Amino acid sequence: MRTVDILAKKRDGGELSTEEIAFLISGYAAGNIPDYQISAWAMAVFFNGMTMKETAALTQAMLRSGAVIDLSGITGPFVDKHSTGGVGDKTSLILAPLVAALGIKVPMMSGRALGHTGGTLDKLESIPGYRTALSVDEFREILRRDGFAMTGQTAEIVPADRLLYALRDVTATVESIPLITASILSKKAAEGTEALVLDVKYGSGAFMKEAPLAKTLAQTLVDTGKALGLKVSALLTDMDEPLGNKVGNFLEVEEALDCLEGNGADDLMEVTFELAVAMAVLGGKAQTHSDARRLCEQTLESGKPKELFLQNVKSQGGDPQTLLEMRGKYRSPVSAIVYAQTDGYISRIDAWKIGSASVHLGVGRNRTEDAVCPTAGVEFFRKRGNKVKSGEAIMSVWARDEAGLNAALPQLAAAVEYAPDPPEHRGLTGEVIS
Ligand code: URA
Repeated sequence: MRTVDILAKKRDGGELSTEEIAFLISGYAAGNIPDYQISAWAMAVFFNGMTMKETAALTQAMLRSGAVIDLSGITGPFVDKHSTGGVGDKTSLILAPLVAALGIKVPMMSGRALGHTGGTLDKLESIPGYRTALSVDEFREILRRDGFAMTGQTAEIVPADRLLYALRDVTATVESIPLITASILSKKAAEGTEALVLDVKYGSGAFMKEAPLAKTLAQTLVDTGKALGLKVSALLTDMDEPLGNKVGNFLEVEEALDCLEGNGADDLMEVTFELAVAMAVLGGKAQTHSDARRLCEQTLESGKPKELFLQNVKSQGGDPQTLLEMRGKYRSPVSAIVYAQTDGYISRIDAWKIGSASVHLGVGRNRTEDAVCPTAGVEFFRKRGNKVKSGEAIMSVWARDEAGLNAALPQLAAAVEYAPDPPEHRGLTGEVIS
């Protein structure tokens, strides 16, 4: 087989065989096919899509690029959650310890910032000392002891996703249903989970802007996940506005701690509890939605999830005491405030504009080799539905450097939309596909 022939076939709208897909992915993971050829293939997939058969073959090829974690010997049930990516979406940091406190094991393999969206690994690594590149043995041991473990793709586990994920991030090939499906499900199948709850987002801050497209992605994820032998359910959730009050790596760790202490913002807790309920039901800890919701609320109030979070910080190389002392203080010195431009109600804060301005601030990357800035980001004082006066502070902003701040500020100001009347209430969680 010649790589260039496979690229031409995909470029011209053909269906690749399982062998051709396996050839590309194994060659890429082994370093035999260069980034520029895989970039061209990813762009051809972006434009021409993939059949369900190709999507399943891609998922399998990525999964087979590394080892699968064997969780036998650890008592389950095992349930994980993954989001298709959003702005201010720190739900994984709250859900993993919350669901672990219910007695469900959460083996969580996450990603880094992708495009304008944040990444769980980058957020966790903003805690000094915290390591996300765990060996398989470390991952198993931490999962057994703490009830959850947080890791990334490594040279051992789904190396093909580690490479492709970083390449898609900088080649404008993220927003593709088959590429997202294979990326998410290869990680989930490799981590050894039995069941999976997917948070499939729609709205300006999501990769799928329109709800019908998000529904197609959810259905593709559920069908492909089931074919891999996973129990899967997908929840469609709104990502038109940033979730919660903070966007940024350390800023989001702080907000997750607030939530674990019972002080979470309403929008963030609405989505978190719905996902926790789905995980509790899949893990067999409750039969009905209302029982699961009560159980999750009581467990959060017990304080056990916060204890487990801090225990995990210690297990993965951080110092819980230092983390608690850094709260509210660990900020970049380059900062500014965005003020309301008029009197009225905030009718919307555009998640895409906030997410892409955040990349300028240093929260995400422009090139694969860039490091993210742990202390950059945004904190909102006012959000949708709040009445404001012209000149009132809407958000604080922290940037890696002056150039990033200057690039981000106009976009941050433009993200805030105003209206003379209060906006209607909008529910954030929608259809469940299972
Ligand atoms: N999350 C992933 O893990 N991969 C994607 O492609 C998008 C979101």
